[in-house]
Amino acid sequence: MNTTFYADQYREKTISGRYLSLQHIEPLLHQLPEGSVTTVGTSVQGQPLYAVAIGTGATRILMWSQMHGNESTTTKALFDFLNFLTGHEPRAKAWLEHFTLMCLPMLNPDGSQAYTRENAVGVDLNRDAQNLSQPESRALRTCFEKFEPHYCFNLHDQRTIYAVGETAAPATVSFLAPAFNAERSMNQTRIKAIDVIVAMNQELQKHIPGQVSRFDDAFNLNCVGDTFQSAGVPTILFEAGHHPNDYERELTRKWIFTALFTAIEHLYENVVVSNKIDDYLNIPQNKVAFFDIVYKNVKINYDGIEKNTNFAIQFVEELFENQIRLNAVFAQIGNLEGFRGHQEFDVQGALYSDNQINIPKLESKADFYLGKNIEIVNGVPKKL
Ligand SMILES: [Zn+2]
Repeated sequence: MNTTFYADQYREKTISGRYLSLQHIEPLLHQLPEGSVTTVGTSVQGQPLYAVAIGTGATRILMWSQMHGNESTTTKALFDFLNFLTGHEPRAKAWLEHFTLMCLPMLNPDGSQAYTRENAVGVDLNRDAQNLSQPESRALRTCFEKFEPHYCFNLHDQRTIYAVGETAAPATVSFLAPAFNAERSMNQTRIKAIDVIVAMNQELQKHIPGQVSRFDDAFNLNCVGDTFQSAGVPTILFEAGHHPNDYERELTRKWIFTALFTAIEHLYENVVVSNKIDDYLNIPQNKVAFFDIVYKNVKINYDGIEKNTNFAIQFVEELFENQIRLNAVFAQIGNLEGFRGHQEFDVQGALYSDNQINIPKLESKADFYLGKNIEIVNGVPKKL
């Protein structure tokens, strides 16, 4: 089996990059088999909440993506996966006889359009599982109750700040079998989720060794995953993360496809759930350890006193003319112990200057000069 071959072959070429709104995915929904797409609700701003139901099998899996509007990587992977499932592969046909999948590809279309985590009235839908104050939350809950899934996949993106445990590797994909109580106990429901995560991790290690981690499992019943796990349905959180130089997350998209593919294959092949708690706990936890860019040994003139220091730069995303711009801003100055950069520059005492006060300022734009000859534009040295 070669999952990356399928990921490439069935890649949905009409969607790419970070910005995905309903207008990008509606044409794709129209291409899906007749009768497979329904509307399961309406967003705060009146946009449709779509669901794709596919397969005729007895095992039901509910998955949803982009409940956080600015987290589009798993949506891209989901459409790649739907292409595979409808692509007349013998394996896909067998799966569709075994499973019924219900996929909500964009649970938060308003947030997706505005490129915000929250919905149109500023509510984080992943903290609304108990209150169900928002139409999007209620639509997901109704799907959960009516469809009665055997498994749930909760599909997200995470920021570039995470490392795999104490290692130097970025957390390119993270998983979590959410807790169902504050003690983070284990039960059969959670073990079933863990079993699938261990299978996905094993496959991903072949492609991105050392770049898979476990997401923080602090219990919070306001989160959808914790609520569904508590209701007795094995639920898995997927987090698409950073791969070196892949800010568009087109590579990570492939690893999410691989994860989805492996999860379904695993559930198709394995009837007996074995106890994989140790294998699961051996997946290192996420650790906040990265900035996007780190500059070391920069000389700064503080009122006549020259000091060698370091600073870190973080990209802040901004929606601009239907594209996502990455704006580099100063995120930390001075002590960077325990942190590294996805890009690092040791400038060996080059003098910092800018067009203002010649001292970097937190949260201001990272445009500056090093020495006499190097101009840094949006965080990186300008190409000469
Ligand atoms: Zn999220």
